Amino acid sequence: MKNRLPFEDKRDFEEQKKGFIAAPDYKEIMADAGHVAWSMGKYDFLLVEKDYKSIHPSLQRQAILNMNYGLYEVIPNIYQIRGYDLANITFIKGNTGWIVFDPLTAKETARAALKFINEQLGERPVVAVVYSHSHGDHFGGVRGIVDEADVKSGKVKIIAPDGFMLHAVSENVYAGNAMTRRMFYQYGVLLPADPHGHVDQAIGKNTAAGNLGLIEPNVIIEKNIEEMTVDGIKMVFQNTPGTEAPAEMNTYFPEMKAFWAAENIVATIHNIYTLRGALVRDALEWSKKIDEALYLFGKEADVMFASHSWPRWGNDRIQEVMKGQRDTYANLNNGVLNLANKGVTINEIHNVYEVPASLQNQWFVRSYHGSVEHNSRAVINRYLGY
Ligand SMILES: [Zn+2]
Repeated sequence: MKNRLPFEDKRDFEEQKKGFIAAPDYKEIMADAGHVAWSMGKYDFLLVEKDYKSIHPSLQRQAILNMNYGLYEVIPNIYQIRGYDLANITFIKGNTGWIVFDPLTAKETARAALKFINEQLGERPVVAVVYSHSHGDHFGGVRGIVDEADVKSGKVKIIAPDGFMLHAVSENVYAGNAMTRRMFYQYGVLLPADPHGHVDQAIGKNTAAGNLGLIEPNVIIEKNIEEMTVDGIKMVFQNTPGTEAPAEMNTYFPEMKAFWAAENIVATIHNIYTLRGALVRDALEWSKKIDEALYLFGKEADVMFASHSWPRWGNDRIQEVMKGQRDTYANLNNGVLNLANKGVTINEIHNVYEVPASLQNQWFVRSYHGSVEHNSRAVINRYLGY
């Protein structure tokens, strides 16, 4: 694999560190209950320049890229704190305060992130929160950064995509215990972090083990495309149901030519079949929503940033990544159905379907979170059952 993969393409490493402002002087965040909610320090073995024979070279590369830690400027007035949880927390500087996109999994990590950015860039209140979608790592920490009374009174807006509450409950509560247990196996989160144990979680290092909560949104984006100005910042929301989550939305900032891709476009091809559980996703619909975003925003955006991984700068690069992921999801759907129609079954498809050669060697369409084998079975499962 080391010889076959395009290790000479170092653009991800340049993008990953671009805009770095500061890292905190601690590498652990404690939970209010007294245990360690988050540790970045335990992955320091990845910062030593060494090829570990026990780690797949492609995974080791992704694991090093996910060692982002601290505060980063995406562009002036847009900042991210990375490496405080599985997801990034994003801060948009409005006229009077912060608009926060995706307040992490845990109250403790979100609270620490807000404290750190305020120390670095000046104290500002949180005036609005945007939940990009219905997964816990994108809303669970909200109680660490806003007071529920301010949401009830309307002083703080919490904005979410259509169907958010329904799906937040159905994905996290109905089968919640079983899914959490299976998540431990999917990610190996209880393994020690070392070259023979836990190395990475594809879209971040790990999931914070703190206090997960939810505050019901007071603004729901109901139309496919909806424009809104909050604290002086103009935002265009694009609902993308049926993609990475059943309730999800992208956001475009036209005045800054900045495109927020939620979790729809990150630095890996995602799960269509999620081993922890969750409904099988629709690769074709996902591809179509990326295409819609490409023609609505991607043709003019100067920066694309998301709730995991790192941003992409420059319109050529943005289009390269958007088109590559669009085509990979579409080919997965169409290629698998083509084979199924020719007689390949769900028990054979993972040995038959292959990502086209033109896409196989692009880092941004390689699989770390999902896998081609599981995802190809997912397509048959979706259309034909197991
Ligand atoms: Zn996520």
